[in-house]
Amino acid sequence: MLKQRSSSITRITFVASLLSLGMLFSGCTIGDVAESGGDVQQPAEQATITKKAPSNDEPQPTPSAAQPSSDATDARAGASSRSQERKRTPMGNVDLSGRTIYLDPGHAAVMQTPMTQVTDGRGGMKPCQVSGTNANDGWPEHTFNWEMAQVLRKKLEAAGATVALSRPDDTGQADCIDVRTEKENASNADVVLSLHADGAGEGNRGFHIITVADPLPGNQADKSESLATALRDAFVAASLTPSNYLGQNGIDYRADLTGLNLSTKPKVLIEFGNMRDSEDIALLQSPDGQSTFADAIVKGVAASLGS
Ligand SMILES: [Zn+2]
Repeated sequence: MLKQRSSSITRITFVASLLSLGMLFSGCTIGDVAESGGDVQQPAEQATITKKAPSNDEPQPTPSAAQPSSDATDARAGASSRSQERKRTPMGNVDLSGRTIYLDPGHAAVMQTPMTQVTDGRGGMKPCQVSGTNANDGWPEHTFNWEMAQVLRKKLEAAGATVALSRPDDTGQADCIDVRTEKENASNADVVLSLHADGAGEGNRGFHIITVADPLPGNQADKSESLATALRDAFVAASLTPSNYLGQNGIDYRADLTGLNLSTKPKVLIEFGNMRDSEDIALLQSPDGQSTFADAIVKGVAASLGS
């Protein structure tokens, strides 16, 4: 995948240029991440920052190294000893006791003003954060991300895991993307999951999981890729549909995301779906849909950790 990607950097760069125009009208923006579609709505300020910076978040399939700009199984031994104390949980035999999972619900309700610039992890700078996208009815991505984090936290804890969150609520400001990543790195997290949703056009559907492209020395690229694969497999096993417009088979590689570039943990960014698509948004807003995603994540994380 990575090789393929490198060989298509030129093409991607061209496509990214075209898409940058489209981004003016769409996409999620991942504080680093941007989703693909658009963040159309944020306060002018933000929208501006988001879209103009060649990198903040983009919605595209991995502009990767080509754009120096933006922001991105261990089957431990030990599993056997833990398995002896395996608890009966809603997840069956999944046992995440002794594991710490760091959840980063993307974006925040209140944007920093004035917006500072932070490193993109590859020599460039980008806004401290971006607003994220929203559904057609205005429901903000940061709230979806927060809700998913809460549903997921409960299920992870039920499976025995310790859960850390990158922000304490869905009402205030949050750390800039670089600081969030520094805190993740400083924690004892076994895995970091950044939670997002995209904002693209109707008909663009499905989840995709982003892992770092053109990995830097500090990245745990192999484990991150294994984590992405395990999550994708768990999603598909739960009858969740991979994206029909980004990545390949539910996985995308990007070098433009600060949160992935700076990470020293097994980390992926999950784009659960497109908030501007009628079928996806129905799934993202429903308790059953959120629960299905969360159950699959618990299984995928456990599989990647050998738990
Ligand atoms: Zn986002």
